[in-house]
Amino acid sequence: MLIFRGRNRVTSGYRLPDRPGHNGLDIVGDDSHDVLCPVSGTVKSSTIITDKSNSTWEWGNYVRVDDGEGNRLFFCHLDSRAVSVGQKVNPGDKLGVMGNTGYSFGAHTHFEVRKSDGKTTLDPAAYLGILNAKGTYSEGKSGWVQANKSWYYYEDGAPVMASWRQIDGKWYYLGPDGRMVDDLQEIGGREYFFFTKSEGGRLHGEMAKTDETGALV
Ligand SMILES: [Zn+2]
Repeated sequence: MLIFRGRNRVTSGYRLPDRPGHNGLDIVGDDSHDVLCPVSGTVKSSTIITDKSNSTWEWGNYVRVDDGEGNRLFFCHLDSRAVSVGQKVNPGDKLGVMGNTGYSFGAHTHFEVRKSDGKTTLDPAAYLGILNAKGTYSEGKSGWVQANKSWYYYEDGAPVMASWRQIDGKWYYLGPDGRMVDDLQEIGGREYFFFTKSEGGRLHGEMAKTDETGALV
């Protein structure tokens, strides 16, 4: 599950080219500011470091939860914390409220995932089952999502990848990274052409003309 009920707006991704040193995902809760635990685990830290000689001060109020595999989840810049060290937490439990404490410019939650060694970071977007891309994600959402200038199609909150889908009577191919393909593409040894068509301000890579298998005719 995601860390906010309703819309989770990713404003900065994990180690994307525009910010390669950013080891977390910045997420704004547009519908609720309560930060929820996405998994079961144990609270290992719930604190704020004010001594600026310790770089962890940048996280402001933060909560660390360790999941069942020992991965360390950090929820940072909280306005307030709602859990204490040693507490067991389940998916959906409130950890705190999104805020702007520490080294932060505007209320958001910096969500970071590290392996049990405490150093190696993991892609927090993959951990949550969303794309590592700017965009808005909602729990269990189905439908088109635009992120980083590409279109993705979600089913039950997860992007469709490496698959054909017939949506509203038209064929689409969602690539290995979930991106909707457009223009001329070779898929499974055959060539397909997808128009890019504007529909209500949205660009779609609509299949040109196909037979019953989806191949160009
Ligand atoms: Zn961040």
